[in-house]
Amino acid sequence: MAIATLPDSVVDELVEICGEDRVFTGATALFNRARVPAPFAIHSWESHTPQAVVLPTSAEQISEVVKLANRHRVPVVPRAGGTGLTDGAVPLRHGILVDVKLMNGIHEIDVVDRTVTVGPGINMLKLNEVLRPHGFMYPDDPASYPCSLVGGRIGTNGWSLIGSRFGHVKHLVISMQVVLPTGEIITVGHGGGRKNRSSSSGYQLKELFMGHQGTLGIVTEATLELVKRPELEFSAFWTYTKYEDAWKATGELARSGYATIAGVVLFDEEKIAYLRRDDEAYIPQPESAKAVVALAMYGNADEVRPGAKESMRIGKASGGVYMGDEISHADWAARHDRYATPLHGRIRKTGQVVPMSWHCEDAAILYSKLPEVRERWHRIADTIIEKYGIYDDWGMFAYTSGPYKPWGDYLAEIDIGIWEQELNEENWEGYVWAKREIARVAIESGGSISACHGSCRVGEVDLVPQELGGAYEVMKTIKRALDPNNIMNPGKYLLDDAYEED
Ligand SMILES: Cc1cc2nc3c(=O)[nH]c(=O)nc-3n(C[C@H](O)[C@H](O)[C@H](O)COP(=O)(O)OP(=O)(O)OC[C@H]3O[C@@H](n4cnc5c(N)ncnc54)[C@H](O)[C@@H]3O)c2cc1C
Repeated sequence: MAIATLPDSVVDELVEICGEDRVFTGATALFNRARVPAPFAIHSWESHTPQAVVLPTSAEQISEVVKLANRHRVPVVPRAGGTGLTDGAVPLRHGILVDVKLMNGIHEIDVVDRTVTVGPGINMLKLNEVLRPHGFMYPDDPASYPCSLVGGRIGTNGWSLIGSRFGHVKHLVISMQVVLPTGEIITVGHGGGRKNRSSSSGYQLKELFMGHQGTLGIVTEATLELVKRPELEFSAFWTYTKYEDAWKATGELARSGYATIAGVVLFDEEKIAYLRRDDEAYIPQPESAKAVVALAMYGNADEVRPGAKESMRIGKASGGVYMGDEISHADWAARHDRYATPLHGRIRKTGQVVPMSWHCEDAAILYSKLPEVRERWHRIADTIIEKYGIYDDWGMFAYTSGPYKPWGDYLAEIDIGIWEQELNEENWEGYVWAKREIARVAIESGGSISACHGSCRVGEVDLVPQELGGAYEVMKTIKRALDPNNIMNPGKYLLDDAYEED
């Protein structure tokens, strides 16, 4: 297998900047940094490897690497935990991969103004272990909690499982230090102060530097919100005999007005069928269980208790059967494992169990549109299951998304198992078709292709200009203005088009 390489003189310059033991050009280091957990076109792996990997330890080193990349017109790709599901950290045009894992320090904990300042390479698990003795936590709680890192959370504009109570990444990052595509180092947040939360001076640029998938710069430090650790976590799960009833109950719980609601989740019939055939906790559930609704509340004990009581009333009155304390508490506690689904699935025609990797969508869909979108998505999954035989439908869930007001749009995800060993050009095209169609349904329903992962994977990315309309043209203008040589993560979001006239 041939892998692209950099001229020795460029590698020498990288060594000068980062140090000999922080620059890698060997095949193992390169291949490992090309890998992502989303289904991967293994048959064309070598076209996505970096040419060199660097592990810098400071913003100044990153700035020098980026300046070098501009001089030599070599792409730069930032990578944090490598858990992104839209190929953001995959080097589509080769180049220098900047792995930020060594920049994992906690620089300041301010318990008075309630901030913590960290490097981009730290994960939430480690950060919260350090914060716990102080009585605080950083409440970004994705299913990838132990393995995604702050830099990647910002690069994707991540979504948190307890975001309805505490907000998502864009609400939790107060300010950031960013190395721009030309190598300048800036701080962006709210006004001049790193810890200030509000400012109306000038353009509101913080969100521009979030969710850009590494196309507008590299975050080298972030100042984040601290919240008091909740005294009480309450979680409850109910089964329903009909999806329709479960959907109505989800809406009622989400709109019940309790500020302690951290999230409400609705699992559909296909998801329950999938869990019942493969998952220890769900196998014993009766055949009549066709949908599950789950709720979590966080806060001071005297705030959580009244909401918990009312939610139990709503669950019962809406026809839900409470699944019991054990599964309600244990399933919620296992949320960081639960969503990494087992790596096997079944061939529909034969029932044969085969190794499968996990593919998921993460559209933002209005509550009112969930039933219709669900039907259309399953039809798309059925089409590729029937046609290619290497896919499996693992069901759909919808999760409250609005920060501090858990109604409106939901993070809606359909999970599809893929027998990756059997991928070839033909059935890969089937997968790309399905991704495009799933994205089309999200847009046609008035939603977004992505609530948190980003939408730069094959298939879905074709529809981003359609989703954004005129705003996509502005995006191209910004990209070209900030990155005149198109060196920051080129190939993402079809942004190479911004340079076409060159
Ligand atoms: C099992 C599982 C569960 C998941 N659950 C969730 C979930 O609940 N919520 C959710 O939001 N996501 C979830 N994800 C997706 C993924 O974890 C998130 O997208 C996460 O934010 C990616 O972080 P990372 O550190 O792995 O970043 P990477 O994958 O390394 O990078 C992601 C993007 O950010 C860019 N980037 C990396 N570092 C920087 C930096 N320092 N500056 C600028 N850009 C940078 C990269 O170039 C890339 O485009 C899940 C993934 C898995 C595998």
